[in-house]
Amino acid sequence: MPAQNAQVLFPVNVDGPFDYEVPYGMEIVPGDFVFAPIGQQMKLGVVWGLQPAEDGRSLKPLAQKKSCPSLPPIMLKFVDWTARYNCASPGMVLRMVMSSYKALEPSPVVTHFRPSGNTDLRLTAARQIILDKGGPFPARASEIAERAGVSAGVVRGFAEIGGLLAESLPVDQAFQIPDPDQEGLDLSAGQRDAAEKLIAIQKKPGFSVSLLDGVTGSGKTEVYFEAAAEALKQGGQVLVLVPEIALTQAGMKRFEARFGAVPAPWHSALGDAERRRVWREVASGRAKLVVGARSALYLPYPNLQLTVVDEEHDTSYKQEEGVIYNARDMAVVRAMLSKQSVILASATPTLESLVNARMGRYNHIVLPERPGAITLPDIDLVDLKDHPPEKGDFLSEPIIEAAWTALSRGEQAMFYLNRRGYAPLIICRHCGDKLKSPDTDSWLVEHKKTGRAICHQTGFSMRMPKVCPSCHAEDSLTSVGPGVERIAEEAARHFPEARIEILSSDTSGNPEMIRQRMARMEQGEIDILVGTQMVVKGHNFPNLTFVGVVDGDLSLVGGDPRAGERTYQTLVQVAGRAGRADKSGHALIQTHQPQHEALQALAAGDRERFIAAELSMREMLGLPPYGRLAGVVVSGPDVKRTEDLAHKFVSLAPRAEGIEILGPSEPPLARLRGRFRRRILIQANAGIDLSAYMRNWRQRMKVPSKYRLHVDIDPQSFM
Ligand code: ADP
Repeated sequence: MPAQNAQVLFPVNVDGPFDYEVPYGMEIVPGDFVFAPIGQQMKLGVVWGLQPAEDGRSLKPLAQKKSCPSLPPIMLKFVDWTARYNCASPGMVLRMVMSSYKALEPSPVVTHFRPSGNTDLRLTAARQIILDKGGPFPARASEIAERAGVSAGVVRGFAEIGGLLAESLPVDQAFQIPDPDQEGLDLSAGQRDAAEKLIAIQKKPGFSVSLLDGVTGSGKTEVYFEAAAEALKQGGQVLVLVPEIALTQAGMKRFEARFGAVPAPWHSALGDAERRRVWREVASGRAKLVVGARSALYLPYPNLQLTVVDEEHDTSYKQEEGVIYNARDMAVVRAMLSKQSVILASATPTLESLVNARMGRYNHIVLPERPGAITLPDIDLVDLKDHPPEKGDFLSEPIIEAAWTALSRGEQAMFYLNRRGYAPLIICRHCGDKLKSPDTDSWLVEHKKTGRAICHQTGFSMRMPKVCPSCHAEDSLTSVGPGVERIAEEAARHFPEARIEILSSDTSGNPEMIRQRMARMEQGEIDILVGTQMVVKGHNFPNLTFVGVVDGDLSLVGGDPRAGERTYQTLVQVAGRAGRADKSGHALIQTHQPQHEALQALAAGDRERFIAAELSMREMLGLPPYGRLAGVVVSGPDVKRTEDLAHKFVSLAPRAEGIEILGPSEPPLARLRGRFRRRILIQANAGIDLSAYMRNWRQRMKVPSKYRLHVDIDPQSFM
């Protein structure tokens, strides 16, 4: 065999692979894991390509091939694509893929026991119980002991005298195989129609994207289950992406009920052992059904046939740190590269997806409403100019009255405000100073329950001070504005008899606790729920008939071009919590901007009108989906130098038609964790390869150490 060179990509912040000589006799292919020297270190990387060796070029040799399965070829393409599109380092994307080093080792083993069948032994009562109750076998000593109600020592002792046989089995068990032929629910005619369309698409080989569009409760999950069943029948792997908060036990149970097997889970809270198990089982192709948060997209599926992105409009699909990417978009790219299908499901699809569907690039599958589905309640706006709340209060008369009406009928009410804590601002009445995070341009938020002042950007937290930190005046600190705790306090004054609870990430902790509180609401153990965006997802509350939105304008402020769309999506979901087919619901939205198109469309219950207005505005302004955006954030420890660097970067921009550069400007979050920040916004005409442009631009400037320059393609956050 002629001498070869290998290009090896390492999971570190580098622009691309490094070249090595392949030692004589070492057989490798792209995707293999290898050890190779970088500097003084020996590092694990992945063979990215092979080339005939060039004469006269002397390279360091690869040290060793790791004996483990290699990355499927598609992953190499996908890593490169992700890095190019998002202007990220391919090494850092590879690092996301290599999310469990332990998965590259064989599974650890553990001793299991099973009855030997030896009938000559004297059986004590404890040993007899082991045989009778200790199964199913084979099992660990501790499992057998627990089932039999004896100690593990008794189990091992029984094995020593030959009553049980010991064998070493891998700790990491395979996942159960999902059964696509298990009966699902009896689908309604509309659901069946949609399911059949998706099954037909799944049967056709090749790339496709389908937008599954239907109100909450119309049965989208049941319908995409059918497409998943078809992909499983073909022997493929299926990935269902869900927002992290929806990864509850109850959610997983639905998959189990439909396919008779617990799916492989993937999310940020997974322990090391479970990560190792899932990664390895996915890589081997044995895990057929994966349900996970966005990073599950970067597991090494050798045979992915279908990816479902549930709640495709959800902002949690955008990763904002490290490699900045949108998992919804990358799922489509992954499907294009491996010629498979994607289903994007939502009750409030993004305008990008709707336009793609209307242009015929995506299949548009609309689910008709079914009885029991949540339909939008009557929505009215409360103009805060006409109905100002009492001094110091935040709930207007119409909202209080409507909640009374619901409670007096024995029904439930909900107040929605997407603000955690008690008050978003703590101000000194004496000197006028506002309490600020020490290293971040963000106000401290009062949390009365815990008696602390907390920065929601960085998590910084301190005891609520008794004196003003600036002027040292005593008892001068006062809370300004509402958070959910304060709304709950106000509600308790208006409704002294009611059982009032708060649902927010502070009060409810992990997804399971949130689910429990939601379940209590569902069972009628709460009269008034005061909630942040946590309430938007998950359970439906059959007895909830009134929703009051405390601040309908909250997400309309700021420079986010999608603010109207976000407000619309969130409020549809929030208002949609009220009422079911048999009990009509009512929602009131307090606002200072009753003329805003998003709020008007909500009040009119007219989605088409909102979409049309929003699209024509975007078209006029050249915003997505009619134009493209990129964001750049320059950050560093010195404010002047950060500002200068941002200006220098702008001056280096390649000249191009159809590109406009705005900034640098000071963003709302001008300092974060001690680093100063400047923002640049780039707006490009549709059809321009903005990623290529940004890559070219980025390469023109070397950023000094301690300073950073992040490119964000299609930014979702403008903080
Ligand atoms: P979506 O995903 O659109 O919000 P789901 O698929 O979660 O809707 O359905 C909402 C609820 O209605 C679920 O509890 C589901 O089991 C139930 N459901 C949906 N379709 C049917 C059906 N054809 N028969 C019985 N129950 C159904």
